[in-house]
Amino acid sequence: MQKDIATPIRTRAILNRYGFSFKKSLGQNFLIDPNVLRNITEQAELSEESGVIEIGPGIGALTEHLARRSKKVVAFEIDRRLAPILEDTLSPYPNVKVIYEDVLKADVRKVMKEEFASIKDLMVVANLPYYVTTPIILKFVTGHFPIRGMVVMLQKEVADRVSAQPGTKNYGSLSIAIQYYMTAEVAMIVPKTVFMPQPNVDSAVVKLVKREKPKVDVTDEDFFFQMTKASFAQRRKTLMNNLTSGMPGGKEKKEAMLEVLGQLSIDPSRRGETLSLEEFAALSNALYPIFH
Ligand code: SAM
Repeated sequence: MQKDIATPIRTRAILNRYGFSFKKSLGQNFLIDPNVLRNITEQAELSEESGVIEIGPGIGALTEHLARRSKKVVAFEIDRRLAPILEDTLSPYPNVKVIYEDVLKADVRKVMKEEFASIKDLMVVANLPYYVTTPIILKFVTGHFPIRGMVVMLQKEVADRVSAQPGTKNYGSLSIAIQYYMTAEVAMIVPKTVFMPQPNVDSAVVKLVKREKPKVDVTDEDFFFQMTKASFAQRRKTLMNNLTSGMPGGKEKKEAMLEVLGQLSIDPSRRGETLSLEEFAALSNALYPIFH
């Protein structure tokens, strides 16, 4: 087996050979600990039949671990300066394809269709660039893609919000958007020392597994997410105040909304963070006719 790209010595040698300088604006914090990479890969529960989408391969540290444990890896990398490096470091892995594109702009559905036509098990695995963690996760979670789930490294603070339960300070519209589609757990807390350069914040690996069907039944998903977002717009405000100020025409619909809350036995003075996913679903289904 090849020596790992991610050992500190080899990483430094590769960066020096190509005169590569990190771009902070692209969230370039490369992993230099093969144990962490093995752990991430194990969390993904890959088989020889699995396909993997990776976001941001960097110099290929995680990519090679994924390539060894799956049928095919397709990685999206925004920084073209990495092309000659990846061509070199990933040359032992013919089952890897790198697409030099911003993953947020890429037509991921088309890529999945073209690259993974014969593959039934598809996972998204990444050490995410921290400046765009949330939009990238939301793109894959809410995009109705044929994936089994995601294993991603992100800022611990975001990991806590993704996996938060009702009644806790981290619970909010991000927790709801993700847990509606996926189960979410923090699989591992990761110290700053395993990155080059070291980020300013602690990190965590989150494992998301797609539910067979969303956790709750909602009449209209867009309306459900619009309403949950409005409910957390100002965390100190009550649910009712957030809905009146955050929903279109909310002020005129205040009386009707109060009536709905009464019917559902939801106290209007509660804060959004105290409502379960089930309560939000019931509320959005009952409010939907009032707003349409
Ligand atoms: N996977 C490598 C590792 O673990 O060492 C690098 C991870 S580094 C945290 C994030 C990577 O994402 C960088 O290579 C960066 O250039 C890339 N990146 C940043 N923004 C991106 C975007 N919008 N689309 C695709 N890749 C992006």
